[in-house]
Amino acid sequence: MSRSPDARTYDLDALRERVLSENGGAVDDSIPQLAEADPALCAIALVLPDGTVRSSAQADVPFSVQSAVKPFLFALALVDTDGAALDRIGIEPTGEAFDALKLESGTGRPPNPMVNAGALLTASLVDGGDVDGRNERILRGLSAFAGRKLEVDEDVARAEHLLGDRNHALAHLMRSEGTLRVSADDAVAVYARACAVLVDAEALAVMGATLACGGVNPVTGERVVPSSVARDVVSVMATCGVYDGSGRWMQSVGVPAKSSVSGAIVLAVPGRLGAAVISPPLDEQGTSVRGCVASDHLSVDLDLHAFGSTQG
Ligand code: GLU
Repeated sequence: MSRSPDARTYDLDALRERVLSENGGAVDDSIPQLAEADPALCAIALVLPDGTVRSSAQADVPFSVQSAVKPFLFALALVDTDGAALDRIGIEPTGEAFDALKLESGTGRPPNPMVNAGALLTASLVDGGDVDGRNERILRGLSAFAGRKLEVDEDVARAEHLLGDRNHALAHLMRSEGTLRVSADDAVAVYARACAVLVDAEALAVMGATLACGGVNPVTGERVVPSSVARDVVSVMATCGVYDGSGRWMQSVGVPAKSSVSGAIVLAVPGRLGAAVISPPLDEQGTSVRGCVASDHLSVDLDLHAFGSTQG
């Protein structure tokens, strides 16, 4: 696995300072806990294939993972269904918002695992039998990706479950199509709790690095998912990870990534590194404003673009 020599010495605090001056965007207000997020929070972390973890200031500040959990739910669903999850869910970009009330025409399947319909379904496909069992399996799986025992913010989980009207609507829509096979409320409960898992930039970067390292956590050495699963997940992050901004993201940053309404972005560059940026103010597509700028700089400075050198 090749490694980026520059990533070992790259000044993450200088990058943080550079992006802190970006003052655009607005903090998500879908639940009170997200509305109260500190707009000045900004942290960046990188994890290399040899397990080196590098972080800026504030990389240990906790936040709820929100949609950055979706690649990992997809991974767990692929493992627990022996790949059959790929028959239950599409993998095409939607060009629509993350919570669009739309399923694949003809099949009634969710369009892809990176939008809410898809994540409601993948969360329902993990092992565990009932809601508690699936919650437990997801927390254990996410902890293995992060290389540490993660916890849930119970207030966020409750608020997501209670206030997620569009998620309830999506779950009922999938029930009506026969594509969701647990009750709509169970599906929302499990997905809401997965969104409420607390991480920090460092933990999320290790999670991204585990995908970038073919499913082996580079810090703990544990194989978390098979390499074929990591490949499938990173591929769908590349095409669908930034919602209807995915095309522009791939063209400019060129790195498989997943955004979230908490302002986190997780990046997975196969064989090179995993990274995470957190900063709550979001642009119109629900992507962290500073996270975008920081990812752009990382891509250029560390030459990460998948389809060609961004240097020279
Ligand atoms: N909890 C959010 C929802 O399902 C996650 C959305 C996101 O992070 O983009 O509405």
